[in-house]
Amino acid sequence: MTSLPKIDYSEGAFDFIDDRRLLSLLEGGEPELKQVREIVAKGLEKRPLSVEETAVLLRATEPASVEEIFLAARELKRQVYGNRIVLFAPLYIGSECVNDCQYCAFRAGNPAAVRRTLSKADLQSQVESLENKGHKRLILVFGEHPRYTADFIAEAVRTTYAVKSGHGEIRRVNINAAPLDRDGFRRVKAAGIGTYQIFQETYHHPTYAKMHPPSTRKGDFLYRLDGLDRAMEAGCDDVGIGALFGLYDWRYEVLGLVSHALHLQEKYGVGPHTISFPRLRPACGVEIKPRWQVADADFKKLIAILRLAVPYTGLICTARETPAMRRQVMAFGVSQIDAGSRIELGGYTEAGDAQIMEREQFSLGDIRPLDTVIRELLEDGYIPSFCTACYRLGRTGEHFMEFAIPGFIKRYCTPNALTTLMEYLVDYASPETRRAGERLIEMEMAKIEEAQRETLRQRLGEIKRDEQRDLYL
Ligand code: SAM
Ligand code: SF4
Repeated sequence: MTSLPKIDYSEGAFDFIDDRRLLSLLEGGEPELKQVREIVAKGLEKRPLSVEETAVLLRATEPASVEEIFLAARELKRQVYGNRIVLFAPLYIGSECVNDCQYCAFRAGNPAAVRRTLSKADLQSQVESLENKGHKRLILVFGEHPRYTADFIAEAVRTTYAVKSGHGEIRRVNINAAPLDRDGFRRVKAAGIGTYQIFQETYHHPTYAKMHPPSTRKGDFLYRLDGLDRAMEAGCDDVGIGALFGLYDWRYEVLGLVSHALHLQEKYGVGPHTISFPRLRPACGVEIKPRWQVADADFKKLIAILRLAVPYTGLICTARETPAMRRQVMAFGVSQIDAGSRIELGGYTEAGDAQIMEREQFSLGDIRPLDTVIRELLEDGYIPSFCTACYRLGRTGEHFMEFAIPGFIKRYCTPNALTTLMEYLVDYASPETRRAGERLIEMEMAKIEEAQRETLRQRLGEIKRDEQRDLYL
């Protein structure tokens, strides 16, 4: 008789999500404006909110209370993140999958899905195409399949970093893939990954069981929930959590996300680097009842509440959302977006502008080219940033949190964002975007401390004259 592989759990692993407790926190009706104000004030002091405090904000529906939440989120975003928006692109590596997640086109039970895994040459040409558009940060996405081992993922990371096209290079590779065991996390870490993202999808146990057949690997709620604890113990201290909104009550999922963030913070002294909150999208061969579909107004509210609850955690809004929605949520919460994204396998070189439903995991809401997205950001007064300095200087995890202090952004993040923007403008931008970018750089230079301004001006000049690339503080 062959024995089943022993399951690897983190030290003292336990299921810290108590459905009944979280649900009870959402009962109790409308909170008083005074109570909302007190919690919002705590958020504005950049102190993480407890699950109970977050629940109070989630229960608020009175316009006066909701208005306070949005105003505070906007202010906090400005203070912690400034006006930078970090840009990245997703790169789908393989659509083979042994799981049967009811919402996903890649699920094993979907006969219509096109199954494909990029070969090394395919991967190289996808990366080259992304570099030629100006991307510097990618997230590699995988289904869950015995082929996609830790070594396979690590090899894809190494291949990606090795592709250089002109001035183009990828400086940060993040991962969205199945949870690994600790040895697996060590292997992918050794390949130089940035953030390892695992979305719990839903923190509500009965919904989780409905969406993920218990016979599948992903059907094990605790193994997935514990995934990022194992990552931490293996030395990957840069992790991303997420929930798929639309499977269950959005307010409950926010409590799940905050519980997860606090758990990591308490156990390892480091919270998640990012939180993602994808909304369910139509997908080939997928039929989910719209009962828990999240309305636009609630979507915006959940982002504002997350902003206040976890002040130092980056919030990611992907191209599942429309350009108009993305534009709005950047003002009061979101700090990272993808741009110019294609999620069909091979889509950066093969599909042109058409979206091919059978090849995608789900359909996108924003398929504008990178240059268009950058131009819009510039016109709205944001600094599009490809900066990867913190990660490359070892300022991640605990250290990253240390640096997320007043003054750091002004001294480091803004100058680094400006040099990466200048690289983009010189190497890849359309003339119109370049003009908008140079205008914005001039405006930002006026805000830089005098002591730094001259050095920065020199560096920008070196990039412009094609003498230097990849300069950072
Ligand atoms: N297979 C890995 C896993 O399940 O963790 C990789 C993740 S999957 C390729 C990326 C994420 O896409 C999932 O975690 C899920 O949240 C999201 N997703 C799946 N189907 C979706 C849909 N129909 N609409 C929006 N997001 C979806
Ligand atoms: Fe597979 Fe991930 Fe899709 Fe689930 S969400 S079917 S694990 S690719």
